[in-house]
Amino acid sequence: MKTVILGGGLTGVTLSRLLAELGDEVAVLEAAPRIGGLCRSRTEQGFTFDTGGSHIIFSRDCEVLSFMISTLEGNRNERARNTKIFYKGRYVKYPFENGLADLPKDDLFFCINEFIRTLIAVEKGELPPPENFRDWIYFTFGRGIAECYMVPYNEKIWNYPTGKMSHHWVEGRIPRPPVEDVIKSAVGIETEGYTHQAVFTYPLHGGIEALVRAIAEPVKETILVNFTVNSVKKENDGWVIGDGQREVRAGRLISTIPLQALIEVLNDVPFTVAEAVKNLRYNSVASIFIGIRGQVPPYSWVYIPDPETGLMNRISFPSNYSPEVAPEGHGAILAEITYNEGDAVSGMSDQELISHVTMSLEEMGLLDHTQVVYSGVERQEFAYVVYDLDYQKNIRIVHDYFNRIGIDLVGRFSQFEYLNMDGCIRSAMNYVGNLACR
Ligand SMILES: Cc1cc2nc3c(=O)[nH]c(=O)nc-3n(C[C@H](O)[C@H](O)[C@H](O)COP(=O)(O)OP(=O)(O)OC[C@H]3O[C@@H](n4cnc5c(N)ncnc54)[C@H](O)[C@@H]3O)c2cc1C
Repeated sequence: MKTVILGGGLTGVTLSRLLAELGDEVAVLEAAPRIGGLCRSRTEQGFTFDTGGSHIIFSRDCEVLSFMISTLEGNRNERARNTKIFYKGRYVKYPFENGLADLPKDDLFFCINEFIRTLIAVEKGELPPPENFRDWIYFTFGRGIAECYMVPYNEKIWNYPTGKMSHHWVEGRIPRPPVEDVIKSAVGIETEGYTHQAVFTYPLHGGIEALVRAIAEPVKETILVNFTVNSVKKENDGWVIGDGQREVRAGRLISTIPLQALIEVLNDVPFTVAEAVKNLRYNSVASIFIGIRGQVPPYSWVYIPDPETGLMNRISFPSNYSPEVAPEGHGAILAEITYNEGDAVSGMSDQELISHVTMSLEEMGLLDHTQVVYSGVERQEFAYVVYDLDYQKNIRIVHDYFNRIGIDLVGRFSQFEYLNMDGCIRSAMNYVGNLACR
């Protein structure tokens, strides 16, 4: 039976490789001229930037991590994370709860006092269980950490009120340190949080796309690029997939493309399903690339919770991941700004974004505009799944429907889950593992 995979991002190429290893006949249909999806990279004037925002390789999942690392073979570099949060002009250690000693004294007291008061209140059962993400933040960290960092940062990256977000997804994703670590960090004893990411891997050459290319290498010939799927029809026991010019037939159909794109190309989608997809929220991201003459600071990346500092939620320094992504004597900076269609950022031109970021970085003391030798912008419409309060209701309707009609959904915007690269590869491995057991 021939399997057709819609989308040649990380999930699509991983599925193709794993299915081919089982001996299946596979075809991957990718709209863009190159594979990679959110994990594409571009090289210009000696600078390599990840076009879907800065990526690093890390995972708690040992099997997936060793798959990624062994696939890269020698093309990899390991670095210790040196990440900060820019707070009132200071560089506070990340995660915030592990960097409390870096705060001004009043804020340090506010954070630790509220943390302990909340802890006691929770122990005594005086606080109701959280009903949304904002409640969860206050319930878990107390008012100080919530108001100094967690709420402003999250509202910036999600571009959505935390009080309107669900909290079902946070376990394991948002660092939640032991109490002793928070107290130690407040008195200035070094602690490390989010430890499975404390050391990370990055390709030496080619940016994060090198990982997707390495995974795709044995199955290159299964991938058809420049194939924008615009029709998917049921035919007897299989499917016919078209791009307006060509048709490909499949016995099994797996989609890794965004649900919003898939629903568009199907006929007779029930109204409730179309509405549920329409109501799923997501964010777009603009990646702003700045290449400079001279050195960047020694940080891996810096979170920027305060809207006054700039529109960016994060700036990364890819030349600290690999020495090969910038020409000698130069440094690379990547700023990420999330936005939604119709908001102020979505209306900004590339030049306006570059000027905004350059000015903000100058004000942070990170560069002088005369150092800038390269700049560029890329936008990704589908960047982050936003878990609003109706998410679980809507996604159930959508998944039930695709289950019923027999299209399998794997990947970040197909499952419509906040999956990192490791989560995508795990989903692909589980999918193929289940097929092999049938
Ligand atoms: C800013 C940012 C930073 C991130 N950083 C990290 C990180 O540091 N570490 C980490 O592990 N993960 C990170 N991620 C997550 C990671 O990028 C994703 O988990 C992963 O790339 C998702 O892969 P995918 O194949 O499921 O989806 P996608 O990459 O979205 O691939 C879908 C593919 O489908 C194609 N497509 C769409 N419509 C059609 C159509 N009609 N016909 C044919 N093809 C179509 C698209 O062109 C695309 O290639 C980050 C994500 C973002 C947004």
